[in-house]
Amino acid sequence: MRTNDLILGQRCKRLIRQVTGSNSIRTIDELVQQFSERNGRSITLIPVQTPAATPCGLWISTQHEDRIYYEERTSPLHRHQIIGHELGHLAFNHQSNNQSAIDLHAAQLLMPNLDPELIRQMFGRTYFDAPQEREAEAFAAVAIKMIARNSNTPRNKDCATERFTQAVEGGF
Ligand SMILES: [Zn+2]
Repeated sequence: MRTNDLILGQRCKRLIRQVTGSNSIRTIDELVQQFSERNGRSITLIPVQTPAATPCGLWISTQHEDRIYYEERTSPLHRHQIIGHELGHLAFNHQSNNQSAIDLHAAQLLMPNLDPELIRQMFGRTYFDAPQEREAEAFAAVAIKMIARNSNTPRNKDCATERFTQAVEGGF
């Protein structure tokens, strides 16, 4: 187990506990709702069909609300992973200079599904760097682990998130 993974995993757990007050979340929607209440801003989950073979998500922070787009044609677990990842960007406050930031890769994949106004808003924004992507991925892994513990959701033993989850395991 890498020390950095462990530290990052513990930061994610703290972030979630600060918002939920416990580890009792049973669905990703529940976690989204609690972050929304904490921030006093609505978080809208919007299902989309991404054009490429790689399902993904996108977080857009507007003046009045946060929007998380997610691929709807995927397994519940993967949906949790996608939403958890985007919520991770939100939870870690991945914004700079009061500008919203977006996933460049995700934006490219999702662009055909977004309306022109949203696309316009996205240009000129900053993009997440690799450490931010890692934080978002860790957040998703920790959230999925908490949800799996509380709801007996089967875990996917093959995916990268599961490997990361094992790396950050401990302390629950
Ligand atoms: Zn990301």
